[in-house]
Amino acid sequence: MKKILITGGAGFVGSHLCKRLLEEGNEVICLDNYFTGSKTNIVELLDNPYFEMVRHDITHPYFAEVDEIYNLACPASPVHYQYNPIKTIKTSVMGAINTLGLAKRVKAKILQASTSEVYGDPAVHPQPESYWGNVNPIGTRSCYDEGKRCAETLFMDYHLQNKVDIKIIRIFNTYGPNMNPDDGRVVSNFIVQALKGEDITIFGDGTQTRSFQYVDDLVEGTIRMMNSRDGFIGPVNLGNPGEFTMMELAFKIIEMTGTRSKIIHKKLPTDDPTQRKPVIDLAKKELNGWEPKVALEEGLVKTIDYFEELLSGEAVSVKL
Ligand code: NAD
Ligand code: UDP
Repeated sequence: MKKILITGGAGFVGSHLCKRLLEEGNEVICLDNYFTGSKTNIVELLDNPYFEMVRHDITHPYFAEVDEIYNLACPASPVHYQYNPIKTIKTSVMGAINTLGLAKRVKAKILQASTSEVYGDPAVHPQPESYWGNVNPIGTRSCYDEGKRCAETLFMDYHLQNKVDIKIIRIFNTYGPNMNPDDGRVVSNFIVQALKGEDITIFGDGTQTRSFQYVDDLVEGTIRMMNSRDGFIGPVNLGNPGEFTMMELAFKIIEMTGTRSKIIHKKLPTDDPTQRKPVIDLAKKELNGWEPKVALEEGLVKTIDYFEELLSGEAVSVKL
């Protein structure tokens, strides 16, 4: 049994990771300040004696004897990470320093949840890990993009200077159950709008593309990365190479929900990347043939079911 710390464990991805690592027989400490996460996501785990919930802000140091750390704490939706950009960059940078310091002290292996946003508005398509990216350092997305880039640098430096055992994954757009209905990212926005019969908001003309990965595929890849061979530190892309325009996504969700919602267009946010699609050859090679198994429609069915239940008030709701 390993003792595992998951920062951001009450968030969308973190809650799935907590559940899976508990099911595999580990002891899990879930650390979160509940900025975008919620107790609802982990309420089913609270009775498990091997699960511990810690309300803590990772911009402050935290100490616990653990074997592994998954560092996920950081708001991931543009709406939320732009709400307080200084806090966002502090979370990425000081969060990395605090978790790396802990890893160094207790000799834990540590994995950083980085992002496809390190590629910015990519001039190379699709994006391999060797691409250094095209990021505006002073734009509205910079607090997130540059914070995550700096965190990658810190991970490499703690590895080279202090021999900390690190792993870095670059996550591409991931969706699924446990996304907050107010998350603001495109899949949850379109589904919630469709289910409520509200207008579906496409930013810009909807020709921009994203590659959507179902959360179970990400969790599988993340755990395989943590357990990958000594000496392989990444960064490694984890994403589904299926690429869709936002217009295609909207039509798919309209058809699948049978909604009468209308599409409306809103202003495209500044620095919104025009295209994004991962090259996943490295993940396939290093992570025992890992590749996404869940096609977009299959993942959307599960996500629509989740939001239907949530919106109808049947899901467990915990007041914080
Ligand atoms: P999320 O917003 O649902 O989860 C983030 C969690 O971190 C939340 O529970 C939040 O409360 C917590 N948090 C934020 N600031 C904190 C702080 N200062 N101290 C402690 N906890 C804090 O987002 P998610 O989609 O689950 O993303 C998880 C991680 O994966 C993030 O680091 C994100 O950057 C990365 N990522 C996600 C995606 C994706 O598409 N889901 C893509 C790329 C990268
Ligand atoms: N988007 C949209 N309508 C929405 C939310 C997002 O058209 O209601 C667009 C957004 O402009 C971007 C894409 O969908 O081009 C993905 O946005 P998201 O916030 O999910 O992720 P990111 O931009 O970080 O990849």
